[in-house]
Amino acid sequence: MDKLYKDKEWLEKELIQKSPTQITKEQGVGLHTICRWIKKFGLKIEYHRNNTYQNKKWLEKETKIKHFKQIAQECNVSTATISLWANRFKVQRVSPLQYSARDKQYLLDHPDTNVKILAKKLNRSIQSICQQRSRLGIHKIIVRLILDNDQFIKMWNLYVKRECTKRDIANYFQCSMATIDAKRRELKIPQKIAKSDIKRDKNNNIVKKGCCKCNKLLLISNFCDKYNKYGNNVYNNICKKCATQYQIKYRRNKNNWAKLLYLKAKKRAKKKNVKFSLTIDDIQARLEQQGYQCPVFNIPYEMDKYITDNKFRKGLSRPQKSASIDETIPNKGYTQNNFDIMSNRANDLKKDGTLDEFEALVKYLRVKK
Ligand SMILES: [Zn+2]
Repeated sequence: MDKLYKDKEWLEKELIQKSPTQITKEQGVGLHTICRWIKKFGLKIEYHRNNTYQNKKWLEKETKIKHFKQIAQECNVSTATISLWANRFKVQRVSPLQYSARDKQYLLDHPDTNVKILAKKLNRSIQSICQQRSRLGIHKIIVRLILDNDQFIKMWNLYVKRECTKRDIANYFQCSMATIDAKRRELKIPQKIAKSDIKRDKNNNIVKKGCCKCNKLLLISNFCDKYNKYGNNVYNNICKKCATQYQIKYRRNKNNWAKLLYLKAKKRAKKKNVKFSLTIDDIQARLEQQGYQCPVFNIPYEMDKYITDNKFRKGLSRPQKSASIDETIPNKGYTQNNFDIMSNRANDLKKDGTLDEFEALVKYLRVKK
């Protein structure tokens, strides 16, 4: 398709009949592009005053009897358009049709009815209904619908512990989620701490941060930090204590071992620059075959030693009962035919020794004894 808008005469002709928005729709380009060419040719945009709502006097007259939503519906445009032109003409928005005594009475008579249904019945927006209700003091009546305070506190505590959702509480009391929040405010229960809750000092440094697991606002020294790929310093979403507890729980679960071993071995292979073609399923099958214990010493693996063994942290020794993946023939890569799982103790003893060497060693030790 030819780029017609680059022709000055064509653009000038089009602008007499259409608005720039219409031209962009027909040409399939952005508004910015058309506006740039209009500016380049030094053309003027004519505002089309054909539409009724673009008449100041008419709009002034209408807003006195109807609200924006009604006018918009009659003109077959969005409410935002009417609002825009009202702002342009500086037409003051008269409080959208004062609520009549009958309407007010209707709201007072139906305090338990859903706001959506009320909005449809009175032909107003939900926001308007809510405003009017709060003026009439109805919102307090709704909160009193939740009569069982003890049950509410019990459920809220469950929500804080992440054992149920806010939606569950709302379903239990048959009310909206906003009502739940209003009730919480009434009982003066503090809000649930989120991971995004941050307190800063005058120099804009983070001082305190919320832990979303134990729901406490803690000093920033309680959080691990690291640099992300953009070079920014970011903090963990859970505190060190919670992270440790999570790690221990994760590592005690036998079903996670295959993945743990897989990730560790993959990292090592990349560092040593050797082939790696194992899958998690291969490792899982081998672990099940071994019965989750060391095939050399027949002791069950203890994977969570990584956390609890302080010796390991200082680099003195690695947890001896923990499992690790080993290359049967060293430096041949971690492939399906060249891998073995054994405890770290067995692996440390084996290292890169050959069978002949071990036989010689055993012979020597036997004689010495
Ligand atoms: Zn925590």
